[in-house]
Amino acid sequence: MDFSSKLLENAVYEMSQLPGIGKRTALRLVLHLLKQPGEQTERLSNALQHLRNDIKFCENCHNISDVALCEICANPKRDRSLVCVVEDIRDVMAIENTSQYRGLYHVLGGKISPMEGVGPQDLTIASLVEKAKKGEIKELIFALSSTMEGDTTNFYIYKQLKGLDVSTSTIARGIAVGDELEYADEVTLGRSILNRIPFEGSLKAN
Ligand SMILES: [Zn+2]
Repeated sequence: MDFSSKLLENAVYEMSQLPGIGKRTALRLVLHLLKQPGEQTERLSNALQHLRNDIKFCENCHNISDVALCEICANPKRDRSLVCVVEDIRDVMAIENTSQYRGLYHVLGGKISPMEGVGPQDLTIASLVEKAKKGEIKELIFALSSTMEGDTTNFYIYKQLKGLDVSTSTIARGIAVGDELEYADEVTLGRSILNRIPFEGSLKAN
């Protein structure tokens, strides 16, 4: 792509570094911003800057939060003995949308993936095991996507919990293998949490 302006080229380059944004889309977005009043670009860059500088992660569940303890963990009405293990905040949002779940979450920040160089130490697994050792958790619900990475991660955590008095279950999927949690419809997802099955049972089925 030949640019008549270095400023334009730089902006398009930075925009095209985002996932799913090719050079052409990046150019369209940048030209769109140029047509808008200057304040719009300012608001966008301010919002991103604030997000980057001020973002916090809940010290209990590692969900993205504006305060030290997220709203869900701070809510006394939530069942603290029940913890749902998810990959990221999108899963928390999807499950919260179902209004069927009253426990807490634990956000792993990804899945174990040797292909992508993600090991257990890159995720918040150690802090989950720590919480389990304190005896507050009675049941862990695995709600990772049913991909090979998701299964590997579930099994790794399951093994870490050996000898602890924590039961493990996995959400009963009405959705196809490999489907991401956030795309499941609310009714299906809500039902799959209520009808969860023991994790060991799910191992034998495979
Ligand atoms: Zn939290």
